[in-house]
Amino acid sequence: MSNETILLDIKSVHAVYNKTIKALNGVSFQLRRGEILALLGSNGAGKTTALKAISNLLPAERGQVTSGTIRFEGRDVLSEKPANLVRSGLVQVLEGRHCFKSLSVEENLISGGLGRSSSRREIAADLEHIYAIFPRLKEKRRTASGLTSGGEQQMTAIGRALMSRPRLLVLDEPSMGLAPLVIKDIFRSLKALNREDGLSILVAEQNSTVALQYADHATVIENGVAVLSGSAAEWRSRDDIKAFYLGEGAAFAHDRPAA
Ligand code: ATP
Repeated sequence: MSNETILLDIKSVHAVYNKTIKALNGVSFQLRRGEILALLGSNGAGKTTALKAISNLLPAERGQVTSGTIRFEGRDVLSEKPANLVRSGLVQVLEGRHCFKSLSVEENLISGGLGRSSSRREIAADLEHIYAIFPRLKEKRRTASGLTSGGEQQMTAIGRALMSRPRLLVLDEPSMGLAPLVIKDIFRSLKALNREDGLSILVAEQNSTVALQYADHATVIENGVAVLSGSAAEWRSRDDIKAFYLGEGAAFAHDRPAA
């Protein structure tokens, strides 16, 4: 694959917390420009650690990448400050939909654009674009975020990330704790952003069914290693892969499926 096509390139990344707890044991995967890549795996597999490494956020958690490389558009992520990565178009929505609870939905969104030196007109245009993608946010624009539903807070967190005009949007478990219809709503909006704006998306999910429905490709992480990568469309109909790698249904066979 040419460097033009690859937006994010992760090679043999090892990472630890507190200098001792191993969380990543040689993860490698690539994200192509313009695609949605789902990072799947069970609780504790290393998805969040991989995402934090991509935004160079591990040092803030007493974590550290000990070897391997991470390149975003060819740039060495591990030698960049997280804020610079945001400015260069790599923007992350952390797990747990962090919003400023006492600020209104619109103030939260505007706060996402503060790192950019944008004119009022540009900010107003970006807000309208976000309201077009998430109409519920427009209805709630004057409401304090803390008083909105979990789904609306997730939409606000995503909208705030969009205000910094990402080229790669990284999301950690956007479905967490939300009702199925709300999850569908959010993933449909992400798909629309991908299709209409060409936004590349990396999404870590335990909910593999929904992630595979909207992603182009998927990578499974187990014990800090990427064990399988493939086409989401193909995996949707592969019950053996779902059973073995994604914990769906019972796994009866003893050998892993050829993928
Ligand atoms: P989840 O869906 O629960 O977030 P995950 O796949 O994202 O799971 P990680 O959170 O990356 O997995 O965890 C990978 C390993 O690193 C686990 O063994 C976890 O206990 C450990 N770990 C995660 N965060 C820390 C931390 N701040 N300090 C020490 N160990 C951590």
